[in-house]
Amino acid sequence: MSLKSDAAVQSAKTGYDVNRIRKDFPILKQLVHGKPLVYLDNAATTQKPLQVLNALEKYYYTMNANIHRGVHALSQEATEAYESSRIKIKKFINALGKNEIIFTRGTTESINLVAQSYGRKYFNEGDEIIISQMEHHSNIVPWQLICEEKKAKLRVIPIDDTGELVFEEFEKMINEKTKFISVVYASNSLGTVNPVKQIIELAHSFNVPVLLDAAQAVNHLKIDVQELDCDFLAFSGHKLYGPTGIGVLYGKVNHLENMPPYQGGGDMIAKVTFEKTLYNELPYKFEAGTPNIAGTIGLGAAIDYVEKIGLDKIASYENELLDYATQKISELSGLKIIGTAKNKISVLSFVLENVHPHDVGTFLDFEGVAIRTGHHCTQPVMDRYAIPATSRASFGMYNTFEEVDVLVNGLKKILEVFG
Ligand code: PLP
Repeated sequence: MSLKSDAAVQSAKTGYDVNRIRKDFPILKQLVHGKPLVYLDNAATTQKPLQVLNALEKYYYTMNANIHRGVHALSQEATEAYESSRIKIKKFINALGKNEIIFTRGTTESINLVAQSYGRKYFNEGDEIIISQMEHHSNIVPWQLICEEKKAKLRVIPIDDTGELVFEEFEKMINEKTKFISVVYASNSLGTVNPVKQIIELAHSFNVPVLLDAAQAVNHLKIDVQELDCDFLAFSGHKLYGPTGIGVLYGKVNHLENMPPYQGGGDMIAKVTFEKTLYNELPYKFEAGTPNIAGTIGLGAAIDYVEKIGLDKIASYENELLDYATQKISELSGLKIIGTAKNKISVLSFVLENVHPHDVGTFLDFEGVAIRTGHHCTQPVMDRYAIPATSRASFGMYNTFEEVDVLVNGLKKILEVFG
């Protein structure tokens, strides 16, 4: 039996009905250049189901008001909806308390918050901060900024040819100078899922806190922050079928309590006088100004949606798609997969001999296929493999085996034309 028919049997067994799911995503029905849209750019952002779109619409149609300080009905309703999303997220990642869930604009802002707030308070000259060679720029630059300011040193765990972290190098690197570790849970350009539990265990044996960039993990892997024992975890709503402009920072309460505010303004204060300002309690100390209320409510709806289908079912379906796509494109001569780690999320990066990834992307676009080409905000990964860019197909809960076939046929045509 082929991988595709095995998968069909398996999906029937688990009750995973991709055609039913696709009906919830109106955008997938459209044609692009006269061809049915095949959306394989889910690592950049995922599409939004009707349930999320309806939640956004309902907020603006029926309860738009500013939150927290209003006594009127609309404000109370909006506050309740906003705070109920916080509780959903707390449960979704199994945080100990809702005061550990801070709303931000996304992963980028969450990491900057920690780098600026924690780093400003605790980093000193000569300290070492460890990241990895496969980080997204948003988990590199914030640490460079604070290292520069504090004269601390950024150290980088290398990756091997398959795209896995060289753990022994990490073991050699960590020492009494290490003050913080920030690593990606799953890589957006290679697909690698990192051994984060092992990293955290080793870090904690040196009393070093760990931040996980879970931007790509959150919609593929069940996250339990207590089980992982991570100190901080960052993710974006838009990669989890939710709206853009909303994200989460999870932090252990003892860290958050001791960290100074990141931004000042309304809502983050308990009392303001010109002499001194007292800060609000957690999590509001870190949520200055009017937040993205609609986005937060939309993210809550996205979590409801994902949980209703079951993240484990989604993940196992996506793994089948990845295996099928990997097998199919491995059969194409003149194509090389970049990122062949044993444990991967459904991200497939590749390069074609003699064809620039931008040409691959443009050609596929005319076939209706949306993939991403470029450095994927991971320029050091491109440097590691001595390539300028890759083409990347990334699969979400609504993609099908037939769509993989469309991608593969498109690639075959490109290889014929350019080969
Ligand atoms: N980290 C990883 C691994 C990512 O893939 C991304 C986005 O692609 C980010 C961080 C940044 O996320 P955002 O732009 O939503 O803040």
